[in-house]
Amino acid sequence: MVNTTIKTTKSQEIFTAAQNLMPGGVSSPVRAFKSVGGQPIVFDRVNGAYIWDVDGNKYIDYVGTWGPAICGHAHPEVISALHAALEKGTSFGAPSVLENVLAEMVIDAVPSIEMVRFVNSGTEACMAVLRLMRAFTNREKIIKFEGCYHGHADMFLVKAGSGVATLGLPDSPGVPKSATSSTLTAPYNDLEAVKALFEENRDQIAGVILEPVVGNAGFIPPDAGFLEGLRELTHEHGALLVFDEVMTGFRIAYGGAQEKFGITPDLTTMGKVIGGGLPVGAYGGRRDIMSMIAPAGPVYQAGTLSGNPLAMTAGIKTLKLLQKPGTYEQLERITKKLADGLLKVAQETGHAACGSHISAMFGLFFTSGPVHNYEDAKKSDTTKFGRFHRGMLERGIYLAPSQFEAGFTSLAHTDEDIEQTLAAAKDVLSSL
Ligand SMILES: *Cc1c(COP(=O)(O)O)cnc(C)c1O
Repeated sequence: MVNTTIKTTKSQEIFTAAQNLMPGGVSSPVRAFKSVGGQPIVFDRVNGAYIWDVDGNKYIDYVGTWGPAICGHAHPEVISALHAALEKGTSFGAPSVLENVLAEMVIDAVPSIEMVRFVNSGTEACMAVLRLMRAFTNREKIIKFEGCYHGHADMFLVKAGSGVATLGLPDSPGVPKSATSSTLTAPYNDLEAVKALFEENRDQIAGVILEPVVGNAGFIPPDAGFLEGLRELTHEHGALLVFDEVMTGFRIAYGGAQEKFGITPDLTTMGKVIGGGLPVGAYGGRRDIMSMIAPAGPVYQAGTLSGNPLAMTAGIKTLKLLQKPGTYEQLERITKKLADGLLKVAQETGHAACGSHISAMFGLFFTSGPVHNYEDAKKSDTTKFGRFHRGMLERGIYLAPSQFEAGFTSLAHTDEDIEQTLAAAKDVLSSL
């Protein structure tokens, strides 16, 4: 499928060349638009709530570089802080006070975090936290949920089995069976399945890791009692509870999903927003557990660029902007208007759909629902989503190019942007 109503000559030229240079033409798979069809647009610049592509088309953006742009792209205060930091050099590979500042902000904000270690991506944070879970408990098995993404490390790339509880089989060639044989999976929002796994694997489970609000299988909030139940089960079995808040941290609430739902895990992983658009990840939690990390303790984990001064600067400034009064009320208001509006438009135009939002994260599935887990999400009409996505793109609205991704809003989105988006959605859905 080729774009029809907008000129995308340059995007197509560049993407065609890219396919010869890089696998699939991209640096990360979903960017290639495989699951929605058509070619991706190639970005030239971003500002506020908007993207401009290389052909000069402007789009309202609901991806926000997959989450970090919560204050809007290229926020002037972030940019000027970066300019100042740049003058002092791009990398130290040594302690800097900027790390203390961001660490203190994270510790103050996130209930579970008493100590933190900075890394360069969410993937790295999740890899490290897994090693730490195993070291602390001296157990090897972990439980993850079908449809939850914890980065691309071997141990997390487990095909989500449809059974209640299946031993993990690798999801990608190149992942050895041994790497995932200790990864147990359960359907999201299914406490009974988790309970059964704990019974079958007594004293062997190091912990449970999950997205406290799922964003990587589409947007799926936790059912009432699910997070509480996991907290109780992990306590009962001497296992750790880990919230992967790479997506939800500083987005669902300033203190993340754990603040929003009042459930405190033992460990937390972070990324995306915390780097304000530069490459940062972090993991943290209870002081007794974090003290096992080298050089305080024996669990090895390191990074040449970790705690990078530019990345710390962007993170600090972004969190400062988020601390301003009314921020999360504004995010909630604008996102509700969008999510409710999309659902209403879908219903008015006769499409089976369901969806919801929390704070600055939203989703819309083309299925009557309800969606409690990945199996439910997979009932969505992905062909319809692909056509919807293309129609929206042609009308200047940039949505995540997959039915199974959450949407993101920012402080830069205006009521006018939302109204324009809903009008475009009505137009597209009426024609499908
Ligand atoms: C994005 C994401 C990751 C991986 O982070 P990267 O920075 O892409 O490596 C891990 N967990 C969750 C929940 C994510 O959304």
